Amino acid sequence: MTRIPTMLMGADGPEHLPGRRVVRSLACLQCGYDLNGAEAMGRCSECGMPVPFSLAGSIDPLVHSLSPIPNPRAVGRGLLAAACVLAMLPTAILMWGCWFVWYLSEGSGSGRRFSLPPVPVWLPDRLWWYLALVILALGGVALWCFKPQARGRVPVGTVRSVLLLAIGVLLSALAVAVIPVVSSGSKPWLLVASPLFPLPGLAIMLVGFRGVLLDVGKRSSTFRRAKVRRQRIPPLLAAIGLVAVAWVSLLLSLQMGESLRAISLAVGLLALIFVTIGCWYLLLNAWWIYAALQTPPERLRDLLTEAEPLPSD
Ligand SMILES: [Zn+2]
Repeated sequence: MTRIPTMLMGADGPEHLPGRRVVRSLACLQCGYDLNGAEAMGRCSECGMPVPFSLAGSIDPLVHSLSPIPNPRAVGRGLLAAACVLAMLPTAILMWGCWFVWYLSEGSGSGRRFSLPPVPVWLPDRLWWYLALVILALGGVALWCFKPQARGRVPVGTVRSVLLLAIGVLLSALAVAVIPVVSSGSKPWLLVASPLFPLPGLAIMLVGFRGVLLDVGKRSSTFRRAKVRRQRIPPLLAAIGLVAVAWVSLLLSLQMGESLRAISLAVGLLALIFVTIGCWYLLLNAWWIYAALQTPPERLRDLLTEAEPLPSD
């Protein structure tokens, strides 16, 4: 059984709990019951959970020691918008890549190699253009939220990371918009190479996003404490490199023979699946930070009645 603390470390230093009451709305950590008015050393009247545990779970002293963000809610929305772009883009490339597996496994004879209609029925031209527009719109929202404030400082991360994010958004939107153009052209190898196009933009976006995420992530205790469920970005960049290598070797196999084809497709798709899952995890991580920025933690001192003077005073 964990010992119930009689003292907690708040943003303004240690606070003794005995003799004090909760004076703000505070949800019980276990059942969500509002503990407003309860004794700081008491228990939840609904589930019996000691109040100090709920106090400890709701505060985040570290956040108050960081320099304040001028527009925390907007930054939260921007982070979420950027993460949505990062989740959508590899998902679209993966669908496109899966179509190639089907396409190349069907057309195994040399005569049939490029004989299928270049654009699949379930992924029409316009879908790519809509996707490019959505990337631009969501990326624009994110960049607007991260735009430099007073004295040219960006609210979170560095100017460099926000700039990389902007370049990545533009490059990937452009690459996505180009896919239907090349796939209707007369050069079939360009069509096969098309899943490669959005990868540089995606990689640059991830590098920029990392700078913002690691900085703003300090404000979410869930993000700080998460170990396994926190997506690291360098492995994603390595996997994007692997996708690129696999796809180039796939292109070579189309020219030279079929021995490389199966292994290139398998490696490329596996790496792409890894990137896609990782990017959806990034969206989850961004959601934690978004939630923390929407409802910033209160100071422990503000949650409680005044401390009684200690006997020695
Ligand atoms: Zn409770």
